[in-house]
Formats: sequence, C-alpha cells, structure tokens
Amino acid sequence: MTAECIFCSIVNGNTDTEILFENETLVVFKDINPHAPVHQLLVPRKHIRSINDLTLSDDTIVSSLISAGKRMANEMGIAASGYKLVFNVERGGGQMIFHLHLHLLGGWK
Ligand code: AMP
Ligand code: ZN
Repeated sequence: MTAECIFCSIVNGNTDTEILFENETLVVFKDINPHAPVHQLLVPRKHIRSINDLTLSDDTIVSSLISAGKRMANEMGIAASGYKLVFNVERGGGQMIFHLHLHLLGGWK
C-alpha cells in the first residue's frame, strides 16, 4: 500500500468502485473514462510502479493479469470478436497512474 495511490485505495476496498472480479493477486474494475465499449482495468494488489519496475519474482503477477484479461474477455462476450490488452509504460507511453495495470479494450462493432 502506497499513500495517495488511487489504485491501492481501490484494491484495498477503500472506495465505492464496483469490483467485477478479484482473486488473491488482482482486482478488475471498469475504467472511469472508457476508450472502448468494454474498457476494464486489471490491477495487481501489489503496488508496482510500472512495467519498468518489474522483477523476476513478479512474473506470476504478470501472467495472472493476462489470464484475467482472457477470462474477462470471455465473460464480456468479446473473446471471439477480438480485444486489446495494453500496458502503458511511463509518461511517454501514456501511463498516468503509477500503479501497474493492464487495460482490456474491446467490444467494437
Ligand atoms: P494509464 O494512462 O495507463 O495510467 O491508465 C489509467 C487509467 O485509469 C485511465 O484510463 C483512467 O481513465 C483510469 N482511472 C483513473 N482513475 C480511475 C478510477 N478512480 N476508477 C477507474 N478508473 C480510473
Ligand atoms: Zn498503488
């Protein structure tokens, strides 16, 4: 838990954010400013600043995020039509919240 990190607050249940899925490793909720008909954020419980801060011991977290993306795509009915799983990395890569997260985007007609 890092003070003043909005995603730490959400994963710790300190906001009224609706949680779509959670397990011991991560939580999933809707992006507040969606860029696609389906836009969810898959967020590890562990505060990791960015992809650039990952260590080898975080490999299971990263694979859990991707597995959860696949699971949520199935659940949302967008697996067959297709979707994107996106990590924005650092400011130049569009990262605005410095708690690692994977975007699930899809549902376009
Ligand atoms: P990024 O630019 O990759 O850091 O993505 C951060 C994302 O978090 C943006 O798409 C925001 O719309 C989203 N976001 C910021 N605050 C919240 C919040 N309280 N609940 C849900 N999504 C949020
Ligand atoms: Zn955090």
